[in-house]
Amino acid sequence: MKSTPLRIPLVCGRQILNDGSDGVGHSVDPATGEVIAVFARAGAAEVELAVAAARAAFDTGPWRKMRPFERARMLQRVGEIILARRDDIARLESQDSGKPLRDAYWEVDCAARFFEFYGGAVDKLHGNSIPLGPNWSDWTVKEPIGVSLHIIPWNYPFQLIARGVAPALAAGCAVIIKPSADTPCTAWEFVKACQEAGLPDGLVNLVNGRGSVAGDLLARHKGVDQITFTGSVETGERVMVAAASHAVPCNMELGGKSAQLLFADADLDRALPIVANGVFTHCGQVCNAGTRLLVEHAIHDEVVARLHERTKGMRLGAGLDDPDMGPLISKSHQASVERYYDVARQEGELLLGAETPSDPKLAGGAFVRPALVVGAGNRSRIAREEIFGPVLTVIPFRSAQEAVDMANDSPFGLVAGVHTTNISAALAAAEALRVGQVWINAFGVGLDVEFPFGGYKLSGFGREKGLEALAAYQQIKNVCIHHPMPPAPAGRPDGVVSAD
Ligand code: NAD
Repeated sequence: MKSTPLRIPLVCGRQILNDGSDGVGHSVDPATGEVIAVFARAGAAEVELAVAAARAAFDTGPWRKMRPFERARMLQRVGEIILARRDDIARLESQDSGKPLRDAYWEVDCAARFFEFYGGAVDKLHGNSIPLGPNWSDWTVKEPIGVSLHIIPWNYPFQLIARGVAPALAAGCAVIIKPSADTPCTAWEFVKACQEAGLPDGLVNLVNGRGSVAGDLLARHKGVDQITFTGSVETGERVMVAAASHAVPCNMELGGKSAQLLFADADLDRALPIVANGVFTHCGQVCNAGTRLLVEHAIHDEVVARLHERTKGMRLGAGLDDPDMGPLISKSHQASVERYYDVARQEGELLLGAETPSDPKLAGGAFVRPALVVGAGNRSRIAREEIFGPVLTVIPFRSAQEAVDMANDSPFGLVAGVHTTNISAALAAAEALRVGQVWINAFGVGLDVEFPFGGYKLSGFGREKGLEALAAYQQIKNVCIHHPMPPAPAGRPDGVVSAD
């Protein structure tokens, strides 16, 4: 039996609006094609309301007047509420985005960790004192940047909202969240958790809608002081132009074509599952997916055979059934990924991926099989373009230098993996790789919120996660005082005025 679609409202301060001036949108379960939610789409009127609410919350609201430890407790409370609703949020996220349930649980746990981590940071955001010599005092104060806009993609919506919003709130900002029109559902759960934790009205606002309408209006709005954008390079470039139109800074978390370097001395039993998970998680729809496997020539054929064996039996299914791999986000994205299967055939050999899933239960969904490509060089389109699907291109190398050169020969620079038992070789590669994060004999640590994440080159700029993320949401004010000693009164050389 089909269930009634959820209704997702807009949240502009205290106002919860079930209608937006840009009509409604529908969110579809990508495993079935069934509509699971109807959401109000914001137009100009609701964008104005949301920005006004955020401005008022930042400029005159109680958030910045609270003592830091009180704000810290409230943020930590958001994390507790998220964990208390873990099952419901994970199920909704799995259905809305198509990802296997275990990945959706990971997202929810990660979101809660961001609130624990940045909640713990609120009362430690101090400035410095700077020595200028006698009779001068100088210090810096870290102040919140203002109204922070968070534009979110569809692949990890709940986790990515928390990744940006938790440090922004910790720094003292007010926020506006603009989710993707493909995955609007869990953003509303996020806002409800913030409201229940007692965050002041207007501090967290939700503006669903089309990127070209609501997203563009928000990014150009003079009431927005900073933008954190996560999404494609193409849209990121548009958002940068919008940000430049009113001279506000932005964080750009863009795409990737990350390399995994597999040396012949690696422990293959450990490395190959890491390589496979690194590319096939969430059907390859991960910005830092390790989509290029650079493998030492001597083990190339063995590695390809073992990956082939491992990959061909992967079980596809709806996210809620927790399969090895769920669907892509939409039928149109499926068509785009399948076009790359043709490119792979032209540029090399497509060992797996071409067969359309035959299970009738999958017929309504956007399913593709995982693909393995060999024989295409590092300069081929299949090895250079972000496909955002489950396509692993395997390329041999003959020396460590060649491996690093190929890894760096990419327009992107998000992350890289190095698999070897030679720690000197691993450290030399880590030093030479032009990426924001290097993994050695690993490719993710679980709930990795503590250390910085972000790209080189076309993968963007600015850093998310870790204490580094806070800098995007703060301005530094310097205060300087000149306080020369007054001349000593006559009779007392030390300047002390006596009482008698
Ligand atoms: P997208 O660029 O199509 O959309 C991202 C967001 O931008 C959506 O909310 C969309 O509505 C909005 N948008 C679209 N046009 C806009 C405009 N003119 N002005 C303002 N906002 C606009 O990206 P997507 O397809 O949702 O996500 C996939 C991309 O995201 C991939 O390239 C992936 O690598 C990237 N990504 C990067 C990271 C990271 O941390 N580096 C994480 C996840 C995803």
